Amino acid sequence: MLTLIAALSLATPASCAGLDIADCAATEHGIVIGAGEDAAEYLTVIDEAAVRFSRYFSAPEQPTAVVIGGQIEPGLNAELQRAGFRPLPWLTNADKRAFAIEQMRSQFEEQLGHLGETMVEQAMAQALPQLDAALPQQSVEKASGALAHEIAHGFLISLWGRPAEARDDGKIGYGSAGPDWLDELAAVTAENDILLDQRREAFPDAWTAEASEEALYPLRDYLSMDHPLLERVAMTREAAREQGSSVRVFSGAEAEELLGESNPVRFYVQSLAFADFLIETSGDETVLGRIALALRVGSFEQYLAVNDDGLPRSVDALEAAWKAWGDARASRIS
Ligand SMILES: [Zn+2]
Repeated sequence: MLTLIAALSLATPASCAGLDIADCAATEHGIVIGAGEDAAEYLTVIDEAAVRFSRYFSAPEQPTAVVIGGQIEPGLNAELQRAGFRPLPWLTNADKRAFAIEQMRSQFEEQLGHLGETMVEQAMAQALPQLDAALPQQSVEKASGALAHEIAHGFLISLWGRPAEARDDGKIGYGSAGPDWLDELAAVTAENDILLDQRREAFPDAWTAEASEEALYPLRDYLSMDHPLLERVAMTREAAREQGSSVRVFSGAEAEELLGESNPVRFYVQSLAFADFLIETSGDETVLGRIALALRVGSFEQYLAVNDDGLPRSVDALEAAWKAWGDARASRIS
């Protein structure tokens, strides 16, 4: 116990000291850059994500650096990494609008530029109301939940110790080198109540849906599948790498909004439900952290076979328990 206390007190809280950045604010598990007067809100989100992640897994090992604007210049990116941070680009609603306007303008310039700047301006003025109507306006609460989600993805990657590129099966995963379901499970359990409630409310319909886009995945498929957004995220990573001089990286949630045609929602609903199931069945919320550690050295089947957490000892038995749990949960909520 003494060793544990000593180790905990050695951990240095995140700090902006030593970084040559004007608009920087810090809290224990991270910093926010470029948030201006909204900095306190973002720091609260970092704290909340850290508290939730610690509750289920363990205290985050690597602090996050939330960079507002969706674009992290390579110099800043390198500086943050050198200082031990995991950089996370983040787009506000205003950033998303500016980005969409920028894209619209370059489209109009291509189409109408030869007719003169006035034509471009007129077309812009006409199209702007439509663009505003079409843009998804995330509420502050939902945006905070989504940011906590992305921050927790980073915490899980540092807990794992190896990034997606270093997976045992040679494939590039979604977040960490662990299975994609674990990445998503860690991310959704760190969300705030508004998103958690929404996902739990979506459970009964997803559970009872006939095999379709809306239905949950059979447990075996869920445990071995790629994240539904994996391909999209891989494309975004590649594009960012190619851009070189200025890196525009979208975080997972942004990629989903900006590029997504697939329906990842049920993967999220299932990930939270699976976390709830594991916690309720074992009677211990730290079971998630033990599973994460076990998966670093073996398969989920191997963990189940020897687990002392009160979980069934095989995937077949787990699937039967999952079905019973899901039926009970679906009838309780609906
Ligand atoms: Zn995610």
